[in-house]
Amino acid sequence: MPSDPALRVKALESLLVEKGLVDPAALDAIIDAYEHKIGPRNGAKVVARAWTDEAFKQRLLQDASAAIGEMGFLGRQGEHMVVVENTEQVHNLVVCTLCSCYPWPVLGLPPVWYKSDAYRSRAVIDPRGVLREFGLELDAAVEVRVWDSTAEIRYLVLPQRPAGTEHLSADELADLVTRDAMIGVQRLAAPGGRS
Ligand code: FE
Repeated sequence: MPSDPALRVKALESLLVEKGLVDPAALDAIIDAYEHKIGPRNGAKVVARAWTDEAFKQRLLQDASAAIGEMGFLGRQGEHMVVVENTEQVHNLVVCTLCSCYPWPVLGLPPVWYKSDAYRSRAVIDPRGVLREFGLELDAAVEVRVWDSTAEIRYLVLPQRPAGTEHLSADELADLVTRDAMIGVQRLAAPGGRS
């Protein structure tokens, strides 16, 4: 009997598909929605609020679990949150070297690459190289900090607010915030496309 939950899920899925009970394309669509759309929207709202409400941002950096709890986004796998802020001098990157710990209530389901051996090992050994593969070339003067998630602590990156967004509302700002930026493998671009 396979003990790995991923194997058991795969076996269940195969059985359901074989019996004609689920459509694999529909399953993929649901997973995709949780990975990209539904899940990370909560995190994006937290980020947008931090950008527009300085007092909230300070609370978020001091005690992320309490501040995120104010917005109602706590839950399983998000009980002990830490938010790390990107600045001109510091870029933060989140990984789970041991397995795939991830802040579900604010980011949804982890992407496949987050769970891969390659990302988990290389994010620590060569974070700049990994970021380059994501298309992010950091200036040598920028310090890269890598945060290793555990079952106890889950990290969320507070990305830098893109230039030229002063006129946007919190809702409009939230639309700019991506999952990848909150993991730390991307920098957010201004609405015009300039980063
Ligand atoms: Fe883990």
